[in-house]
Amino acid sequence: RMNSEDEVFVGSIDQGTTSTRFLIFDKSGEPVAIHQEEFSQIYPRPGWHEHDPEEIVKSVETCIEGALKTFIQDGHSKESIKAIGITDQRETTVVWDTTTGESLYNAIVWTDTRTAALARELKARPGSDKLQDISGLPISTYPSVTKLLWLLRNVDQVRKVYEAGNLAFGTVDAWLIYKLNGGKSKNVFVSDPSNASRTMFMDLHTLEYSDHLLDFFSYEFNLRKIHMPRIVRSSDTKAFGSIASGSLQNFPITGCLGDQAAALVGQKGFEPGSAKNTYGTGCFLLYNVGDKPVISKHGLMATVAYDFDGKPVYALEGSIAVAGSGVKFLMHNMGFESASHKITELAESVPDNGGLVFVTAFSGLFAPYWIDDAHGTMFGITQHTERGHIARATLEAVCFQTKAILAAMEKDSGRKLADLKVDGGMSNSALCMQTQADLVGIPIVRPQMRETTALGAAIAAGFAVGVWKDFGELKEVNTKGQTTFEPRMEPAVSAKMFLRWERAVGMCKGWLA
Ligand code: ADP
Repeated sequence: RMNSEDEVFVGSIDQGTTSTRFLIFDKSGEPVAIHQEEFSQIYPRPGWHEHDPEEIVKSVETCIEGALKTFIQDGHSKESIKAIGITDQRETTVVWDTTTGESLYNAIVWTDTRTAALARELKARPGSDKLQDISGLPISTYPSVTKLLWLLRNVDQVRKVYEAGNLAFGTVDAWLIYKLNGGKSKNVFVSDPSNASRTMFMDLHTLEYSDHLLDFFSYEFNLRKIHMPRIVRSSDTKAFGSIASGSLQNFPITGCLGDQAAALVGQKGFEPGSAKNTYGTGCFLLYNVGDKPVISKHGLMATVAYDFDGKPVYALEGSIAVAGSGVKFLMHNMGFESASHKITELAESVPDNGGLVFVTAFSGLFAPYWIDDAHGTMFGITQHTERGHIARATLEAVCFQTKAILAAMEKDSGRKLADLKVDGGMSNSALCMQTQADLVGIPIVRPQMRETTALGAAIAAGFAVGVWKDFGELKEVNTKGQTTFEPRMEPAVSAKMFLRWERAVGMCKGWLA
């Protein structure tokens, strides 16, 4: 064991959709302390999904204190923590009053579909087809913009503060950085390009707010009247300030990445052509395309992966709205089993899906389909159908969508992936990962240490302060004990399964029209 002066650690705040974590990583990328807190999921109406922004901040503070306690009990000193990184659920929209520093409404979560009509309205406006070339994103309920417009239109208090010129808008990274720095007293108000590129206000090419985009969206409210965070590099010694209170008071925040970008970094997807798929609440495939954005022609998004040194790296992204949340749906809404791994066991209790296809379109369908009005639909129910088939079909739904995304990526990028790195809670399911390998026909590689999102934020923070100096130094990080799932299914069988899925997708829309 090293003596404590030589020990170097990096803290990482991982603010996810269903839980918050704080991890402390050593230089080899091993987490030495972790604390996790779940927080409230608020579903006020069908399709609505909110978080309490103040509760999110508290959960972060609790996690920091919790992990730090273990860390110190294990004999480490907190001075050996050199920097703190932040990674967050993206798109989720927080608005606050700059004069009080307090939030004005619950955060509208990325999965929320209350803006479906608004998204249609935006799509119908002249010039809407030009926006993707600038922002990388198609108009949908997903990016922050529709959520912000909804708040302005529907919440009196938000509109009042807007009219007074005091409305601040931010994604969760910006909100957390602002609050952790002490709020309005310090007024540290920044976001990184991997987060800002999900608002639909940022120009992918300049990494600045786009006049064209702001003009397009300002037909009812003048969005230039709203305070938006300054966009800074993902790794920076000054821009993100430092923690204002608690045990880590004055510790610098030096890295910030949206969760999916962080997972790509944590999987060390630094080379163009590398890709990762994270199976969490939703599922997100990011494919590194190098130093120029690739605007998709096949239903994917272009996004910033990270900007460590003023030379941004871009990704093509395929987002799936429902992954682990489908597993939770079976547990909480349907009363199937009481733990996620038991849903996998239930799925293993049957040899195949028994002809059942479950389009888990609880939030419409995202990439590559983009059907806002798709609804959750099961096809092929017979007297033979049992809970195991439903569990299996729920896991398979994510694998089918991943296959469709990979096919789109091959078309956009002109190359075929050699293998796919995976992580996220649902990647614990060996059945799900084997099914994935069978469907896409390439090896699926799962690391043993799957806190890759948190690791990515730690890497961004560690780079800024010299804990790691270059990508080469990260070669050995998190390479121990990975599992590779090789494709085993007859291609003709998987092709037939996929055909059924595509037919099901074709039939799941327009139900409530
Ligand atoms: P997030 O960061 O989005 O909150 P996580 O990466 O922690 O999510 O993943 C949690 C999800 O993974 C949950 O929805 C959970 O149901 C699912 N999950 C965890 N373990 C398994 C398993 N063995 N089989 C199936 N699903 C699982």
